[in-house]
Amino acid sequence: MQLPEFITVICPACGERFEIPTPESEELPAELDYDCEICCRPMTVTVEVLRGQLRVESHGIAE
Ligand SMILES: [Zn+2]
Repeated sequence: MQLPEFITVICPACGERFEIPTPESEELPAELDYDCEICCRPMTVTVEVLRGQLRVESHGIAE
């Protein structure tokens, strides 16, 4: 399947959206560690393909 170049992540801490580069399809499902571009809090972003749909979920990391 054709993946978009960027995916939108919603920060679980501040609710803002920002974009990250999409991982290669052969790397999926992928679990990525990111710091929010707005509030700088760390989060884990899970990217997977489910029934032909790209699913992106973000979870805050407990401090
Ligand atoms: Zn944030």
